Amino acid sequence: MHKTIGILGGMSPESTAVYYEYITRTYVQRFGRYDYPEIIIYSVSFQPYIDWPEQGRWDLVAQGLAAAARKLEAAGADFALIATNTMHKVFDEVQAAVSIPMLNLIDVVAEAIQARGMRTVGLLGTAFTMEDPFYRDRLAQKGIAVLTPDKADREYVHAVIYHELTAGTLRDESRARYVEIIHKLADRGAEGVILGCTEIPLLVSEADAEIPLFDTTTIHAAAALDYAIGQS
Ligand code: GLU
Repeated sequence: MHKTIGILGGMSPESTAVYYEYITRTYVQRFGRYDYPEIIIYSVSFQPYIDWPEQGRWDLVAQGLAAAARKLEAAGADFALIATNTMHKVFDEVQAAVSIPMLNLIDVVAEAIQARGMRTVGLLGTAFTMEDPFYRDRLAQKGIAVLTPDKADREYVHAVIYHELTAGTLRDESRARYVEIIHKLADRGAEGVILGCTEIPLLVSEADAEIPLFDTTTIHAAAALDYAIGQS
């Protein structure tokens, strides 16, 4: 029997839908059958999770996500994941609130980077992901160094996430600027670049760039599927 997957999503719905589609479709492609794992999605109302980080109220973020994770556990999830990079800032608090295991996105992304033998990678994501220590420190513990764009580029990447990507808006102009930012990171020594926001892979794909890109949404969803079917 497969484990039931709990997805703490809605941050944003655009990428939560990708997790659902990836897990179900990949299973069918791999096994030619429809007996994929059961999935419970708890989709939060997103606005507070935009406002609280801006106000520095990570305590409220942690409380809200902990309550949502408890609902997933009560609904029967055997394990859960937080379907956003940014919210891993409060991963430990959320994990402490439940007795089921939580599948950490940063850890599975680190494994993907290590599997490619890389030591230095670029990181694109929200300002919280690029600038706060939680993401880079967790990678540093695994021997991976992170490069982030300069301030103007970080502001651009952050603004596009919240003003365009989380609303499902995909613009060629934004894609071109993201690709330019990726190439600048490559020039500074990045061997690959982490698309460290679950919506960025909707805009940019590996075909757009000269260097390998780590699609955190797909990597996390793939790890969840493998774990649920006992292949990790
Ligand atoms: N989905 C985004 C991420 O992976 C940002 C949205 C958010 O959680 O604030 O970081």
